[in-house]
Amino acid sequence: MRVIEHWIDGASVSGGEGFEVVWQPATGSPQARVALAGPAEVNRAVEAAAKAFGAWSDMSLARRTRIMFKLRDLVERHEDDLARLITAEHGKTLDDARGEVVRGREVVEFACGIPHLLKGAYSDQVSTGVDSFSLRAPLGVCAGISPFNFPVMVPMWMHPIAIACGNTFVLKPSERDPSAANLIAALYADAGLPDGVFNVVHGDRTAVDALLSHPDVAAVSFVGSTPIAEHVHRTASAAGKRVQALGGAKNHAVVLPDADLADAARQIAAAAYGSAGQRCMAISAVVAVGDIADRLVQALAEQAKAIVVGPGENPASQMGPVVTAQARDRIQAAVSAAQQAGASVVVDGRGLSVDGHPDGFFVGPCLLDGVTPDMAAYRDEIFGPVLIVLRAGDLDEAVALVNANPYGNGTALFTAGGAAARAFVRRVTVGMIGVNVPVPVPMAYHSFGGWKASLFGDVHVHGAEGVAFYTRGKVVTSRWPEGADAVRPGLQFPTAH
Ligand code: NAD
Repeated sequence: MRVIEHWIDGASVSGGEGFEVVWQPATGSPQARVALAGPAEVNRAVEAAAKAFGAWSDMSLARRTRIMFKLRDLVERHEDDLARLITAEHGKTLDDARGEVVRGREVVEFACGIPHLLKGAYSDQVSTGVDSFSLRAPLGVCAGISPFNFPVMVPMWMHPIAIACGNTFVLKPSERDPSAANLIAALYADAGLPDGVFNVVHGDRTAVDALLSHPDVAAVSFVGSTPIAEHVHRTASAAGKRVQALGGAKNHAVVLPDADLADAARQIAAAAYGSAGQRCMAISAVVAVGDIADRLVQALAEQAKAIVVGPGENPASQMGPVVTAQARDRIQAAVSAAQQAGASVVVDGRGLSVDGHPDGFFVGPCLLDGVTPDMAAYRDEIFGPVLIVLRAGDLDEAVALVNANPYGNGTALFTAGGAAARAFVRRVTVGMIGVNVPVPVPMAYHSFGGWKASLFGDVHVHGAEGVAFYTRGKVVTSRWPEGADAVRPGLQFPTAH
């Protein structure tokens, strides 16, 4: 069986503490084994990155930028290769995988503007013969730890900006769909990135913990589930590192009585069932306001039933399998538990069998009505094609529900009224908000991040906040005295003169 190895210092590197099977979700069969790094492989990668840092951070901005432009073109040229790798290991449809690659490439395009983004400020003559300027310096070795659901895009929220800013990088991708990271490493090499600037170590918690405690790792970016995000934030912070850790989500779509119900149902169904609900910005809870609930449930049910489920490689499929057999079993168990707790299963995707793929990890779209906030189906992130419906009397009640939820990644409001939309935007305690837009993922030049249990740390990823995360400020005050112009210092604290 094919073995997926690490990429360290410009070469494939084997070794580690064992292997993990990489499954093909559409067939349910194993397709490769990925090496699991131990502390020795992590040390090797961090050492390579630390060694490469001096020359890379000294390289002129012009040359660094040209490499990012080349990478951008290579990612575009290999869009199909990357998408096929994603679909084979993650299971999402090819169209969706291509969309992920494009959204990742947009961060590389943002990083191509790094000379402008790193520009400091200059103040002339702050005191007689004294000038002052500020600049942003890179941190050193940065680590990125990413989840399975976006094997190209989520790491690209991190490494193009970190590297363009002058840092070197060690990526620990998800062990469930690790191959795309190695192709990205090869594209960086083709673009002319020096060895050691971008490294990939594959592995599980052992590799993660080795990165979190490594003294030469300056900063950690994590994206994944909330319990692990909390662990990463706590551990890396205690080790003195800069850290941003993005966690899980329960994204609500609030539908007001004045909304175009047919449009809202189409948008919400696409946001709930796209990528089999395995998006951190998927809509997983609908809050129907007022007397529209029954009509909305009916419209959502029609949408859910019409979705074509099948292997991601098949152009006719609109929704692929979930990532593993464990994920399928967990999702189906969550639906059964909700049913036992009193929810009604309006559309039941449990036990779905797809022609020609009897062992694939498929779950069909599920729609649950009559869910209440005390049920596990509402409290927990299910991370599968399960949409639940709750009811609220008015906008205030709906906002209170959204705000009481521990997560705060994304939310959306469907309405025809500007005043309600404005009130919603101002009052919800959520990081990313859509108005008649179900999946409000910010463009690369804005920053991406949630609130509350969806993000631990202070700054979001990419955009200006990404540049701030991967750099630190220096402010220089300088004076070039010339003979008689030199000011004689007093012993008092100096004031501008
Ligand atoms: P996960 O938390 O299981 O894994 C994420 C990463 O952490 C992987 O690289 C994994 O190897 C590592 N890891 C797993 N267990 C660990 C442990 N005990 N100690 C240290 N490291 C560990 O997440 P996942 O299942 O791969 O991805 C799905 C989750 O990611 C969902 O909760 C989803 O909401 C979240 N997510 C959030 C965002 C966001 O922007 N907030 C984006 C994408 C995904």
